Amino acid sequence: MNDQNRLIRLIMELRQTGIADTRILSVIERIPRDLFVLPNFADQAYENTALPIEQGQTISQPFVVAFMTGALELGDRHRVLEVGTGSGYQAAILSKLCRRVFTVERYRSLLKVAEQRFRDLDMHNIVSRHGDGAKGWPEQAPFDRIIVTAAAEEVPKALLEQLKDDGGIMVIPVGKESQHQDIVRIRRNGDEYSEEKMLPVRFVPLVEGTATEKRNSTTHST
Ligand code: SAH
Repeated sequence: MNDQNRLIRLIMELRQTGIADTRILSVIERIPRDLFVLPNFADQAYENTALPIEQGQTISQPFVVAFMTGALELGDRHRVLEVGTGSGYQAAILSKLCRRVFTVERYRSLLKVAEQRFRDLDMHNIVSRHGDGAKGWPEQAPFDRIIVTAAAEEVPKALLEQLKDDGGIMVIPVGKESQHQDIVRIRRNGDEYSEEKMLPVRFVPLVEGTATEKRNSTTHST
């Protein structure tokens, strides 16, 4: 099967598993996921599975990317903070559905590769930086939307503070590493935060601080 047929099959599978938003489906159709995976996994780029990337991290499963993107209720004027750039795939999807994406990654090496992908694909509304995303991006706050793509044991306070106070939405996996985690959606109105559990998932952990690079590390962490 070639990539085009695999992609069609993936889109059908996403529809069957409840992804109904045609804007999200068409963005997934347009962004070449094969450019975001390691070369030796390129043949699996259009499978509905998470795949290992460098530094023991993962590119999320397409269904989870689509689900979290939908949960954000994005508008085309929104400024969105992503914590955990990883391969850059989720940021690329978001960039087609909102005004600007601010993405933070704690591994400098992962960030460099992702930034090159954004340039190659002419995605000029993605701004990225190396740092601890648990601290958010205070200089750019507040954000209409915040998406965290690593699992937090507790929702970082800085992120709650940097969410817009008139209907801001954060989507974040919450739970301990290798234990039960759920995608949680938080809505902010003033100083009121309401939380909604949405989907059981399994993510790599949100780790505080910036990272020390591991050499030749492409092993899957979970
Ligand atoms: N959104 C990514 C998913 C990558 S996996 C994609 O589409 O490919 C989660 C990423 O979060 C990893 O790259 C990991 O290094 C990063 N991460 C974990 N804790 C972080 C933190 N505190 N700040 C920034 N990035 C973090």
